[in-house]
Amino acid sequence: MSLELTDLRLTYADGDATLVALDDVSLTVKPGELVAVVGPSGSGKSSLLAVAGTLLRPDSGRVIVDGTDACGLNDRERTTLRRERIGIVFQQANLIASLTALEQLLAVDHMRGGVSGRAAGLLRAVGLAGKEDRRPHQLSGGERQRVNIARALMGEPAVLLVDEPTSALDHARGSEIMGLLAELTEERAVATLLVTHDMGQIGHAHRVTEMDDGRLSERRAGSRP
Ligand code: ADP
Ligand code: MG
Repeated sequence: MSLELTDLRLTYADGDATLVALDDVSLTVKPGELVAVVGPSGSGKSSLLAVAGTLLRPDSGRVIVDGTDACGLNDRERTTLRRERIGIVFQQANLIASLTALEQLLAVDHMRGGVSGRAAGLLRAVGLAGKEDRRPHQLSGGERQRVNIARALMGEPAVLLVDEPTSALDHARGSEIMGLLAELTEERAVATLLVTHDMGQIGHAHRVTEMDDGRLSERRAGSRP
């Protein structure tokens, strides 16, 4: 169970020119490890998550999710891999306004049935016990982010991808969310890849890598072992 990204290159057509969004990027995230990629806006962080999440095909390079090489799969197989092995927390809090916290989690998984126990357990795990019946407008920004994280874990993914989880939060609330992500990563042995522009919010990461103009460079260890 892990995420292995090898020699990734991704370009976008930019008029007549070509914009290199990912330039020879390699990165491995092991189960139970939280790796943070820090970099300024436009450096390629969301592109990296889109490729790791099999939402975008790279021009070249390999994406191995939990032992499966995504590049060898057709679109349908990739969708299955994504649904069964990958949890994604998008940058935009994309909760459905009319649903309660519990229903947000159940909506992900309505085809499979028998999941309400797991949904309630996950809401407890993210610190939302007693708030299962609240709708998004009855939750704080940090609580909505917790619902997002719980929802991404509903499918018991091997790999968790998280885009700028603290950008809408104040520093203290952001720090709590980062601590929660580190805790869930360890407890559930998920390989978590998180991207952020915020250097002040990487203390809970096990490993930090810097991204600049589509290139990665190993930076320094986080404050935790
Ligand atoms: P970050 O998440 O670090 O802000 P992105 O991955 O969103 O960076 O973007 C990296 C670069 O690729 C930026 O220069 C951005 O403008 C460009 N880019 C992102 N998505 C597209 C797209 N769909 N088409 C063309 N260029 C894009
Ligand atoms: Mg981004």
